[in-house]
Amino acid sequence: MIYFDYAATTPVDSRVINKMIPYFNKEFGNPSSMYDIGRSNKYAINNARKEIAEAINCYPEEIYFTSCGSESDNLAIKGIAKANKSKGNHIITSKIEHPAVLETCKSLEKEGFEVTYLDVDENGFINIDELEKSIKNNTILISIMYANNEIGTIEPISEIGKIAKKRNIIFHTDSVQAIGNLRIDVKKSNIDSLSMSAHKFYGPKGVGALYVRNGISFKRQQDGGHQEENKRSGTENVPGIVGMGYAISLIDSELTNHIEKVKYLRDLYIKLVVNEIADIHINGSLDKRLPGNANISFLGIKGSKMVELLNERGICASSGSACSAGLIKPSSVILNTTSNINIASSALRTTFGKYNTVEDVKFLVENIKDIVKKYR
Ligand code: PLP
Repeated sequence: MIYFDYAATTPVDSRVINKMIPYFNKEFGNPSSMYDIGRSNKYAINNARKEIAEAINCYPEEIYFTSCGSESDNLAIKGIAKANKSKGNHIITSKIEHPAVLETCKSLEKEGFEVTYLDVDENGFINIDELEKSIKNNTILISIMYANNEIGTIEPISEIGKIAKKRNIIFHTDSVQAIGNLRIDVKKSNIDSLSMSAHKFYGPKGVGALYVRNGISFKRQQDGGHQEENKRSGTENVPGIVGMGYAISLIDSELTNHIEKVKYLRDLYIKLVVNEIADIHINGSLDKRLPGNANISFLGIKGSKMVELLNERGICASSGSACSAGLIKPSSVILNTTSNINIASSALRTTFGKYNTVEDVKFLVENIKDIVKKYR
């Protein structure tokens, strides 16, 4: 099996697994317990909080653990919107957000919030002037993703942060794809809230985190105990949290090399495809994109078919197509960048990670070439 779907999830780094193991059956206490193995768990959680804070340049007490990126997005957007309702009910987001943001906004609309969904251009960028124009007196929150999960486009985060700060609006960013692939500094970029998920950066599944700047009010979305400063009830996933903290500290210390490596592999893939395969279209921006992301439409072959045929050859990749009521629908993200349905339905996302090699990339391109020759 050769894996090119690191944006979907990543294997857990074995160093991370080793850190987690004692917390399953040796250091297994409940972090809320007052005896030693309870306290040691509390300590381990707070240590992970520090590791995460260090990686994004915030204070440890500004980090709240959750179960995944989707929960972090829900907690941020619903929590901030509901706690700040007396100031206004208008939220701004973009049309290409992950469903964890889009569906959360839709659900808030049913509760009386008003949401503006910004268009994106042909490369997936929001327009800063349009963002400014859409701000109203009752705007309380802007939520724009750091980088897109399908086409890898990196949004103008610092510019958005500046505008939000100037207009006194809270700025949340879904950074689930960006953490581990870009260097992020929440203070420098004026980010008030940020979501992340451990399984995207060689940590375990089932654990996420939310950064919320000190001083920003947000309402917990789950009733129960007083864990996580009363913001997220439920006994903490200690092995997961320990794994997440260690995973982020590893990726942070190895980030420069990591970026260089995945970018090299991604650029090699694009170069080989451009040189060797006709009738293709590259989706997303060529320069401002996640280093390990490529999204190319092989016109004439449905993305879902390409994924199926690659799977038969032991290769894992992804199409942005979604299966709904038994029908395969083209990528809605790409349909927001083009009206060409053929481009949207023939997209193939390949995302490269730290265990890929040059040989893997050549193998991938050879197989795509062969599939294109036989099935186009
Ligand atoms: N946001 C983005 C941009 C994502 O890519 C994903 C997952 O793919 C999520 C949110 C949801 O993260 P999780 O799978 O941890 O719930």
